[in-house]
Formats: sequence, structure tokens, C-alpha cells
Amino acid sequence: MRKILVAGNWKMHGSRAMVQELLSGLLDGTNKAGNADMAVFPPFPYLAETQRLLTGSSIFWGGQTLNPAAQGAHTGEVSAGMLLDFGCSMVLVGHSERRTIYAESDEDVAERFEAALAAGLVPVLCVGETLEERENGTTETVVARQLDAVLNRCGIEGFRRAIVAYEPVWAIGTGKTASPDQAQAVHAFIRDKFVSQDDIIAGQLRILYGGSVNGTNAADLFAREDIDGGLVGGASLKVADFLAIRDAVD
Ligand code: PEP
Repeated sequence: MRKILVAGNWKMHGSRAMVQELLSGLLDGTNKAGNADMAVFPPFPYLAETQRLLTGSSIFWGGQTLNPAAQGAHTGEVSAGMLLDFGCSMVLVGHSERRTIYAESDEDVAERFEAALAAGLVPVLCVGETLEERENGTTETVVARQLDAVLNRCGIEGFRRAIVAYEPVWAIGTGKTASPDQAQAVHAFIRDKFVSQDDIIAGQLRILYGGSVNGTNAADLFAREDIDGGLVGGASLKVADFLAIRDAVD
């Protein structure tokens, strides 16, 4: 039976008090043995507090991005080694907000993916089309291009320890979720693309869906064959909402 991953991207939200409240609530709610792994991606300043509170628990944590350089004159940036210093085991790469607001190209994203892997972090590679691209019928072309940039740099082997998150840009933070059919179709496309290169890696790859996941729509999404969990933004900021998504797994 596959193990679903429910991952919370806090984006630039929170405060020290909120981190304490949220993580304590999640810890209280993770006693239940279930078929879901959980992970949180807090803003960088809260990683120390996250490490303090989550060490020894079953919840994973990670950074929301990383700079591919090990160190140097990169004001405002954080390296893979720095994330490891705070106990991170995962890192998001290529979130749509990084691609659009911070102009990360497919190649920039691939470089970050490679740096994460080299450091021993699990990269969570985010891909997805805009509304215009979906309406133009180019969803698969766009997603394939985003995946190919990473495949060209790291090969199929790079995905042995990676996670992919399909996040249609039009569904992120909008309250408009892709239907389970729409999401499953793109997830199957992604998995098939990897099957042609290595069916074992493709079969084991976790492909998360992201885009307005909540406690009401999660069960239908996670029930689909190729949807192995969710990358959750807004609903991961409230303990009850995030746990409701986790509980949708069983
Ligand atoms: C996200 O931030 O990756 C995300 C999917 O956000 P939301 O769940 O709020 O749409």
C-alpha cells in the first residue's frame, strides 16, 4: 500500500508564536497511526524552532527553496548545507512563486534540484501550467519541459530520491482545485514519462497534487491511482485544517 505524503508549504506566513502553536497542535494530532507521512516547510527564520520542536517526531521538515552554491556572496540566500544544519531532510524547488516572482528558469530549478540531491536533501520538484497554458491545450508540453530540464541535468537516477509536485498555477491559493480527473490525467502523464526511462523509479516516485487542497476535496484526490499526496499551502496554516487533510488519507 502506498504511503501518502501530506506536506505543508507555509510560504511567507507565520510568527514565532504561530510556529509553536501550529507544531504543538500537529504533534498532538500525530499520535494516530495512519497511512500518511507529514512534512512542513516553514520560512527560514523558523527552521531552528521547527527543529527544536519536531526532532524525534515522525514529522519531516524542509526549506522552501535553496541557492545551488555551497556558500559565497549571495545576499539573502540559503544553501543546502545550511538547511541540513537545521535538520531539514527536504527542500521545495521550482515552486511557481519562485518561477514567476523570482524569475527562476527551468535551468535554475534544475541546478537547485541537483544541489539538493548532492547534499542529501530530498528535492520536491514543483511543476505546473498557468491558466492560459491549460486553455491553450499546452499543459503536457509545459510540464514535460519543466521535467526535461531536470532530467537533462540529473538523469532519471536523480528521481530515485526525489518527489514531484504537480501544482497547476491557476489552482494555487485561488480556491479552484483541479478536479480529481484533471489532476489524475496530469499525474499519469508525469508517471508515464518516467516509465519510459525506468519503470521501477517511475513506480516508486511520489507525485503530489497541490492547488487549494482542503479537508473536503483531499480524499477524492488522494484516492486516484497516481496521486500520492498533497502539497498544501493555505490549509496547512491551521492545525485542524491540515490534520483534516491528513485524516482524508485513511
Ligand atoms: C502551495 O503553496 O504550493 C499551494 C498549493 O497553496 P494552496 O494550497 O493555498 O493553493
